[in-house]
Amino acid sequence: MTTRATDAKARKQGTREGDPVTPAPHEPTRADVKRRIADEIRARQRFVLTSHVRPDGDAIGSQLAMAYALRALGKEARLVNGDKPPTPLLVFPGVSDIEVMAQLDDPGDAVIVMECGDLARTGVNGFQRGFVINIDHHPGNTMYGALNWFDLTAAACGEMVFDLVEELGVPLTKEIATHVYIAILTDTGSFHYSNITPRTFEICRRCMEAGVDPPAVARSIFDSNNLGRLKLFGAVLSRMELDGSGRLATVFVDQRLARDCGGTYEDTEGLINLPLTVKEIQAVVFFKENGPSDWRISMRSKGNIDINAVAKQFGGGGHKNASGCTAQGKFEDLKTLFCEKIMEQIEQAGSTQPAADSPR
Ligand code: 5GP
Ligand code: MN
Repeated sequence: MTTRATDAKARKQGTREGDPVTPAPHEPTRADVKRRIADEIRARQRFVLTSHVRPDGDAIGSQLAMAYALRALGKEARLVNGDKPPTPLLVFPGVSDIEVMAQLDDPGDAVIVMECGDLARTGVNGFQRGFVINIDHHPGNTMYGALNWFDLTAAACGEMVFDLVEELGVPLTKEIATHVYIAILTDTGSFHYSNITPRTFEICRRCMEAGVDPPAVARSIFDSNNLGRLKLFGAVLSRMELDGSGRLATVFVDQRLARDCGGTYEDTEGLINLPLTVKEIQAVVFFKENGPSDWRISMRSKGNIDINAVAKQFGGGGHKNASGCTAQGKFEDLKTLFCEKIMEQIEQAGSTQPAADSPR
């Protein structure tokens, strides 16, 4: 356990996007911050691990890999999220132990927040009372932790967790490796995006050596469709609209359409990526009706098109090629507004060439 004075000293330490490659001698490097996090972990016993609302594979994979590493060190690790995990991930070790809540009672000795740009995006209240360790790769991270380890170059937050597990000297078990691999597989869009580095494959190689079966993981995650989901994909895609230039696709789903197909909103996970498989389509916006005049909006783009710039204008965020936000209003009005803003970004990027980028 560390003292309050140590906590205060730790506060504000971290690295930030745009840090010089060779920092001034007094500034902590990423390696310093990782070491400092490892020291704080060794000194503490009870951990709460969390991530962002509507957790994805990187969120869940990072959390679970960390949990198994902490338990290997004899520590307690509690998993707390604002929303339940995606159903296909429930078959993987430990995922069903995640507790879903809006208010946390006890933040333990430390809260490790992974893959989350802002503490409010955890969707859980109460973490701020604890000693918060922030590990993330999202642009615009608000550096909300007592310790902040931020690395925009990581293809997935799971890569950072892999590094930390190594730093802690914990052997790479099959459970840890499986979750690191899930994080990387999902956050690279099944190795489609340009956020991949040689290190990504080095980590995957190590994971496979530790017992991960990549085809089995991919089948569990991507090939566990039900009929409702397939029908819903068909219904949503058959209503897809294209702008005059054929570069921007708009798709939407409301509660009635989902019900009629025998599917749920969760079943639309991954659908947004399909329009981008068309060579000419450069960006896609997906509207999901939350409630009357209340919409959840997901956006994806290729290459230099900065879709995050659009999400930010509506109080949302994400990455350059994958972002989201919520907005209120009539569907037709929102559609016009978003299409206008996205077209501005398409024009600004000046690109009609398809590219493969879409880091999340
Ligand atoms: P998705 O469209 O899959 O929900 O999210 C795509 C990316 O944008 C993810 O990195 C996600 O964390 C981020 N994102 C989605 N919605 C929001 C939002 O409302 N606020 C912020 N800050 N990020 C978002
Ligand atoms: Mn991620």
